[in-house]
Amino acid sequence: MRALTLVRAAAILAPLFCGAVRAAETGQSSASTVPVMTPLIADVLTAPRVVPMSDGRNHLVYELRLSNVLDGRFDLKRLVVLDAGSQRPLLALDREAIGQRSSLGGRRGNATASLGAYQFGIVFLHIILRADERIPEALVHEIEGFAEPLKADLSMQIARTPVIDRSLPVLAAPLHGGGYIVGDGCCDSIRHVRALLPLNGALRLAQRYAIDWERIDDEDRIVRGDLKDVRSYRIYGEPVLAVADGTVAGSRNDLPDQVPGALPSNLPIGEADGNFIVMDLGGGAFVLYAHLKPGSVGPGVGDHVRRGDLLGDVGNSGNSQAPHLHLHVMDSPNALLADGLPYVFEAFTNPAAVDAGTADFDHAEATGSPLRLARKTRPSAVRDVLPLDLSIVDWPAPPSKPSKP
Ligand SMILES: [Zn+2]
Repeated sequence: MRALTLVRAAAILAPLFCGAVRAAETGQSSASTVPVMTPLIADVLTAPRVVPMSDGRNHLVYELRLSNVLDGRFDLKRLVVLDAGSQRPLLALDREAIGQRSSLGGRRGNATASLGAYQFGIVFLHIILRADERIPEALVHEIEGFAEPLKADLSMQIARTPVIDRSLPVLAAPLHGGGYIVGDGCCDSIRHVRALLPLNGALRLAQRYAIDWERIDDEDRIVRGDLKDVRSYRIYGEPVLAVADGTVAGSRNDLPDQVPGALPSNLPIGEADGNFIVMDLGGGAFVLYAHLKPGSVGPGVGDHVRRGDLLGDVGNSGNSQAPHLHLHVMDSPNALLADGLPYVFEAFTNPAAVDAGTADFDHAEATGSPLRLARKTRPSAVRDVLPLDLSIVDWPAPPSKPSKP
């Protein structure tokens, strides 16, 4: 057994901590039943799922909860995610990187790499595996840090989690045509991927794989003309299509469009999705379409819809500051009390990507300036993947209906 405890100061309590954590956590050898005190307790909110994405690689996106059980500060210095079987490191974060990916209490804006006495934080993790790289069956987290009350550096290997590698819902195009932007998509943008909410006594992340779809015109603009008029936005009013056969599990059609330019204030949380449709895809998966145009939502609860059917039009209702289609897949028909599930699109072409990141996207949306795009010389169709954040997506033309003889 490798010794992991790094006790630099002679604090009386320190030797009690972390001596055989690796063995205890990974179940190796007879030491698996040896109890070990750890200054942090940790768990993974939802076991990571393997998500094939449009870069040809597999991505794992999940949240690690770390709770400090000491009566003083614990400074995180290093976090390494390992393949629990081979002990191969898959991701290593230093103190600065931990700080950029962590938040106290899981609340946005509370970035930190230090946990105060009895505090907890959430580390939002993203691991990228090459297409030919073996998918680990399980992960474990090696954490090093300074325990202030013990005046000691400690290291522990904790929070073992399985990796779930199973087939994902395959969706058809939710929109027609080309020039759509994947806004706030997976995996390092923060507005959806880190939209963790404390609801009904639990932390929920329904929007983990959500996309805010927008559209550019032939000058690469999201909006042209009056920025306060929903009709100035290229995507406004576009038909929204059923991504699969399914049954409508929830819908709303009566909320007004917001004036673009700012998020509405004091909106009740129950109106955040605006006019919406939730469709039951079967197999425990539900898809949410949010912020639809008032009065445009066709099907109602219990209606069966077929892939490609018109569901409504893109609007700007609910918690929205510019017309867009918010789409995500989740494990419940309740759009907030749900856990976000990964999904893939059956086919699309990815001819370009936004070159300068979310800030450029936000600027283009707020001002009507053209987006700066990095175009691919020979874009080809991709299948059964999720598009990366800030990709441009062209949907395939729908199959033409057979003409009458
Ligand atoms: Zn959204």
